[in-house]
Amino acid sequence: MALGGATATHVTKMMAAYNSGSSTVAAHHQHHHQLPHLPPPHMQPHHHHHHHHNNNNNHQLDMEPDRPIGYGAFGVVWSVTDPRDGKRVALKKMPNVFQNLVSCKRVFRELKMLSFFKHENVLSALDILQPPHIDYFEEIYVVTELMQSDLHKIIVSPQPLSSDHAKVFLSRFLGGLKYLHSAGILHRDIKPGNLLVNSNCVLKICDFGLARVEESDESRHMTQEVVTQYYRAPEILMGSRHYSNSIDIWSVGCIFAELLGRRILFQAQSPIQQLDLITDLLGTPSLEAMRTACEGARTHILRGPHKQPSLPVLYSLSGQATHEAVHLLCRMLVFDPAKRISAKDALAHPYLDEGRLRYHTCMCRCCYTTSPGRVYTSDFEPVTEPKFDDGFEKNLSSVRQVKEIIHQFILEQQKGSRVPLCINPQSAAFKSFISSTVAHPSEMPPSPLVWE
Ligand SMILES: [Zn+2]
Repeated sequence: MALGGATATHVTKMMAAYNSGSSTVAAHHQHHHQLPHLPPPHMQPHHHHHHHHNNNNNHQLDMEPDRPIGYGAFGVVWSVTDPRDGKRVALKKMPNVFQNLVSCKRVFRELKMLSFFKHENVLSALDILQPPHIDYFEEIYVVTELMQSDLHKIIVSPQPLSSDHAKVFLSRFLGGLKYLHSAGILHRDIKPGNLLVNSNCVLKICDFGLARVEESDESRHMTQEVVTQYYRAPEILMGSRHYSNSIDIWSVGCIFAELLGRRILFQAQSPIQQLDLITDLLGTPSLEAMRTACEGARTHILRGPHKQPSLPVLYSLSGQATHEAVHLLCRMLVFDPAKRISAKDALAHPYLDEGRLRYHTCMCRCCYTTSPGRVYTSDFEPVTEPKFDDGFEKNLSSVRQVKEIIHQFILEQQKGSRVPLCINPQSAAFKSFISSTVAHPSEMPPSPLVWE
């Protein structure tokens, strides 16, 4: 790795300012393993919550080591210190980007998306590290906000989850999804581990490695290599070759039930069993609801026993499964994707009124408090205009060409903004970071079933 420019040799941190040796005032950072109580609606806003941690203990600052916090199919994420302001941030390494054209295009799409997003509940790129000369350009490093936990860790932990938590999480998660869908983007891998939660209970959707722009032409085939099996929509389990953003809403429904019941709703061992568990709850689907299914999947359903729906069992998920909660849940867990509720309509459901009020009264960054009172944003659930444009993908034809385009794209991102950052090869954690690898195939979700 030829990464010139890290002139501040005393800096032992993994990230260095690209051409300035200014000393680091690192932030104190607390690890919040405990889910905090949600602030009551009259509490003051957390406008300066970053700084608010800093006041406690400045001498601890530089003690915080760079350390790994997670890894997945498409990258490794570390918790590191930004040398420019001492804040803790997340640094994601996207390795093996330039192995083949498919991988180049996927990473470029993800980079473009991360740079495009502007929504409180969607993770976006704060920075992309200065690339070395193109001959040495092998890895891409993206800086994002550091989030302390995710919904998977919270759900499996023993800490209590109040119905207020469930309402705030679900409403924010749907707010982020409404924004993504308004951008014309399907996330395609919504699962609790991809919903990051910070110490103020603010939630952000992350991991756009499988995201893509919706396909309006129904004759175009879309990949079925999507969505962790437990959260996979029935139309995908049944081999539909075309699907819409309602596959994300199905996943939301599964996670909503998981928040209420503290266990995975449809935990099957195989895609066929996954489908069977779904029909156990929803009953045998109508032919109309299976119209996009492949023949083999339809035959499997029609040969099996005729099942009656058993939706009232959703009331037994927990004491928090009120009539309103179950009503909204049943609008998400609809077999026919065309009849499933949209993110926009789900946000207007009365179950989420309280969660939205609480969020905008004391947790959001879009509203603020003055001495006469709270000044609310004009739009609680913003969308984006124009949509995300994936036209750039059409003319990408070789690895070398995409590499040059990505190199140029990263340099353009940095124009006029703050001092660029680069990797510091002298840092204590560098060797370990550079050799950390992506998840082994056995740790990845199983591939979808291929119907006969
Ligand atoms: Zn607000």
